[in-house]
This record gives sequence, C-alpha cells and structure tokens, in this order.
Amino acid sequence: MSYKNYPMVSRVVFGRGSFNQLGDIIAPKRVNTTAPFIFLVDDVFKGNPLITSRLPLAYNDQLVFVSAKEEPKTSQVDDMVEQIILNHKDRPSGIIGIGGGTIMDLAKAVAIMLTNEGEAQDYQGWDIVKNAAIYHVGVPTISGTGAEVSRTTILTGPERKLGINSDFTPFDQVILDPELTVGVPKEQWFYTGMDCFVHCIESLKGTYLNAFSQSYGEKALELCQEIFLEDTLSDEDSQDQLMMASWHGGMSIAYSQVGVAHAMSYGLGYLLGIKHGIGNCIVFEHLEEYYPEGVAMYKAMRKKHNIFIPQGICSNLGDDEFDIMIDVALSLEPLWENAIGENWKQIITRDKLKALYQKM
Ligand code: NAD
Ligand code: ZN
Repeated sequence: MSYKNYPMVSRVVFGRGSFNQLGDIIAPKRVNTTAPFIFLVDDVFKGNPLITSRLPLAYNDQLVFVSAKEEPKTSQVDDMVEQIILNHKDRPSGIIGIGGGTIMDLAKAVAIMLTNEGEAQDYQGWDIVKNAAIYHVGVPTISGTGAEVSRTTILTGPERKLGINSDFTPFDQVILDPELTVGVPKEQWFYTGMDCFVHCIESLKGTYLNAFSQSYGEKALELCQEIFLEDTLSDEDSQDQLMMASWHGGMSIAYSQVGVAHAMSYGLGYLLGIKHGIGNCIVFEHLEEYYPEGVAMYKAMRKKHNIFIPQGICSNLGDDEFDIMIDVALSLEPLWENAIGENWKQIITRDKLKALYQKM
C-alpha cells in the first residue's frame, strides 16, 4: 500500500479586507519589470471599485476581464496563453485569478500551460503535467467550490469534461477575504454553497472515507448547516463561515472523492452546458436512494431559502443525447467506486442512469 503524497496551497491569508495586501504579497515574486503579473478578473467586477480600484497594477501588468457565463474550456485556455505570449516579451511573473471557480480554474490552467507544451486538452487527466506552473494566486469572490484549495482545474475539452489533476495545479498563494463575496446574488450563493454541501455528503458517505477526509468533511458540513439551516449568524459571520466551509469541503475531497451527484452533473455540464453548482442541485434532488439524509437536509435548505431549481431539462432529449451524458458520467470511475464500492458496475447500469436523468 502506497499513500498519496499531496501538495497543498503553500500560503494563505484569511481576513476581511486582506485583499488590500495583494500588492505586498506578490511584489517579491516579480521576476523583473518586463515580466508582468496577469490579473484574470471576473467581468462581473468591471467598473466595480471593490476590486478594480484595489488592483496593484504596475509596470506592464495586464488586467483581463473574463466572463464566467460559461465554464472554462480547453480552447479558451489555449487562446489566453497565446495572447499572453504574443503581448509580452517575457514570461509572466505570475497569474492572479479573482472570481469564482470558473476564474480560479482558468488561472490555474493558464499558469500550467505557460510552461507546458501543446494544448490544454493534452493534460486533462491525472498527473500528466510535466513542468511546474508559473506562480499563481487565487482570490475567491464566491464560496463553495473548493477550487481555491484543490489540485485540479476542471475544463471542458473537445472530448470530455475533466480536470487537469496534478501536483502543479494548486495555488502558490490564496487570499481569503470574505468581504469580496458581498455582492453574490442569492440564488448563486445557494448553488455554489450547495457544491460545498454536496462535497461533504459525497465524501462522508463514500467508501474512500478516512480520518483525514472525515475531519474536514464533518467540519464543513457543520458550517453548512449553520449557514443554510439555522438563523443564528450575522451576514458577515455567514460569509466568513462559508469561505471556510468551502476550504474544508475541498480538503475533504482531496484525500477521497466526490460521488453520484458530481458524476451525473458532469454529464449535464458536458451536453447541456449546465453549470457545476446548479447542476449538482438539479441532480441532488433525485438522489434519495444514495444519500437519503443528505438529500432530506438539502431539500430543507432549498425550501428555507425558497430557491428555484430548474425542472424538465432532459424532457426533450433523444436517446443519443442521453447516451452522451451517460458516457460522460460512467467514465468517471473513481467517483462511482467511491460512491458505490468496487462492484459499482453491477449496480449502476445505463438504464438506471437514464431513468435518473429522465426525472431531471
Ligand atoms: P462561477 O465562478 O461560475 O461564478 C458564478 C456566478 O457568480 C458568475 O455569474 C459570476 O460572475 C458571479 N460572481 C462571482 N463572484 C461574485 C461576486 N462577488 N459578486 C457578484 N457576482 C459574483 O461559480 P462557482 O460556482 O464558484 O464556480 C463554478 C466553476 O468551478 C465550474 O466551472 C466548476 O467546474 C468549477 N469547480 C472547480 C473545482 C476545482 O476543484 N477546481 C471544484 C468545483 C467546481
Ligand atoms: Zn463540486
């Protein structure tokens, strides 16, 4: 038995207003005055001084606003890398991603692809990346995915939706400033927050569970219950707690895996472009058989906050379309093995998955 030796985020700042320290933190990492920092910022912040007035741009640093409307694509990563190479004669000093999981994943992928040959799609999978990425910093502005702490960056490529999982993927630096999450719309707060909740349930109910994952998963679950089910927290405390829940949820799946909801949500994402957070919610509505207590708790949270979850999204799909989603879901073998056990192939049949998708 050989245990995995995982890298982690090497530095982290936590605190309300800590975003002000970004300039001081990255300054020593500047290679020279012509090696820029590239700031990838969610375009929801365009014209919003909360972020834009506080970006420590210097020399020929570049600010790039990126839309989070669609999830990151391998081709988008390749285009961004090409633009950076064309626009700057030196390799950047670093990439700073400011936004949700979408922008943070792009920042990680761009940092990797600046030092590795070929296309991003070549590196979708486990431990394919050869060279260390350039310095990269993550600044979450919405909480739940755990992308700030994970060793993956989830990309949709021409053939599959799959992460670049590697020792070089985790951020070198993360800035956790809960104040940055202040403008998140309520529905989105719930969808992305539920990503964290689902990480906890899938980790804690999985066959891969171990004391490492359990300790983080239980803490994150406790925080989620306080945030989404109880009325005891101030807005500020709730923002702080959800940022830490996201971190712990991400740590919990680092040493285990996600499960049924994620496998099926990837199918919805690949075929229909349904985003990760809301996709997990759509799927989780129908998973009583696998996670009875988790689904009951989820439904109580959804009702309490009066959140709309789309229905009937698969009602007009043809057999070939169901097949595409089922192929994507079934290809994620470690997720099923974690959720169901080694004999999962006998239990999770194509018909079973089709029947579930038909309910959504
Ligand atoms: P997101 O980044 O897609 O953002 C969701 C929406 O919230 C966007 O419209 C965005 O503009 C908006 N938003 C973000 N911060 C805001 C703020 N402070 N104020 C107002 N609006 C704000 O959402 P997400 O759920 O954080 O990320 C989803 C992505 O994360 C998916 O692409 C998914 O694949 C990825 N993901 C990655 C990991 C990982 O470990 N790498 C884990 C889970 C999910
Ligand atoms: Zn997730």
